[in-house]
Amino acid sequence: MKDTVIKRCRTEHLDAELFTPFTISTGSHKSLENAVFSLEAACGARGYGEAAIATHITGETRAATVKNLRRAGALLAGRDAADYLGALRLLESELDGNRAALAAAQMAVLDLACRLQGVSLWRFFGARAPRLKTDVTVVIGGSAAAYDFTLKMRRRGFRIFKIKTGVDMDEDFRRLEAVRKAAPGCAVYLDANCAYTAEEAEKFLKELMRRGIRPEVVEQPVKKDDVDGLAYLTRRLPMPVCADESAYSLDDVFRLLRRKAVSAVNIKLTKLGFLRAREVWALARAKGIKLMMGEMLESELSSAASAHFAGGLGGFDFIDLDTPFFIKASGMRGASFLSKDGVYSLDRVKAGIGVTPGARR
Ligand SMILES: [Mg+2]
Repeated sequence: MKDTVIKRCRTEHLDAELFTPFTISTGSHKSLENAVFSLEAACGARGYGEAAIATHITGETRAATVKNLRRAGALLAGRDAADYLGALRLLESELDGNRAALAAAQMAVLDLACRLQGVSLWRFFGARAPRLKTDVTVVIGGSAAAYDFTLKMRRRGFRIFKIKTGVDMDEDFRRLEAVRKAAPGCAVYLDANCAYTAEEAEKFLKELMRRGIRPEVVEQPVKKDDVDGLAYLTRRLPMPVCADESAYSLDDVFRLLRRKAVSAVNIKLTKLGFLRAREVWALARAKGIKLMMGEMLESELSSAASAHFAGGLGGFDFIDLDTPFFIKASGMRGASFLSKDGVYSLDRVKAGIGVTPGARR
């Protein structure tokens, strides 16, 4: 048997407590409930992937994702990791209806292929930007909690704050003003997760700017199918309007760009998988629109995979890979290249993603 043949696959739950509930306009996570997918080649090399299950955003469940990962394991067993591209394509056709499973299985294949070659995923994708600094998210909640959280994270060295909005406009104004007070001069991104109509979003942003707060980017202000609303806001607002929920597939992004509906796109591996994420990157770069690298609620493993992807390819304007800072103890090891102030030093990773699940895996 060739030593690069995949001989074993495993799927396990990844559970961890959060420091604080991760609340956005469409729902709330109280804990991390993901899955880890691992592959082992005949030579003993391993690759790992993480499925980030965000039921209130994608409708995907952990039960279905685990089932699909077990199916992916059966498909991959006996295949040669040297044909990683064939494996990525096979997963793409088999797991299109469960993107969390698709991303995890493709992540494990690429992690294994890179480890077999002794290169990092960052180097594999082009080694363009060796360091990425993430923003940090201020979730929906009261302004006093937002103030305390922002102050704590600013003292730790964070300089960009991504504010979730969209449940109550008055509370949102108070929360944004609290963030400004706790972190004067720091950059602010806004993410409404589909909460507004185009007119409401315009009114909200105009009032915010009247109060002296000007976000650097406004993410997903309107419902995911409201392409006219996105186009309206892209014409009317002075800052980039970024598609996230509206950019769930390559053809979604193709249509949005053709209509000039957005001026930025949020790429998440969990929405697109690796092959289509790379195509979205290429299309967006060709059209000259801005790029955000984002994620669902993810541990160090898949957050780092996203950082490798973005830093490897380069050209990302906004980095939103902060969810490891919300997780108490994921059990992941090797993530010391992610500093406490949110910097991913990708050139320090020797092989693959550089993060492995704890000993029991
Ligand atoms: Mg978003």
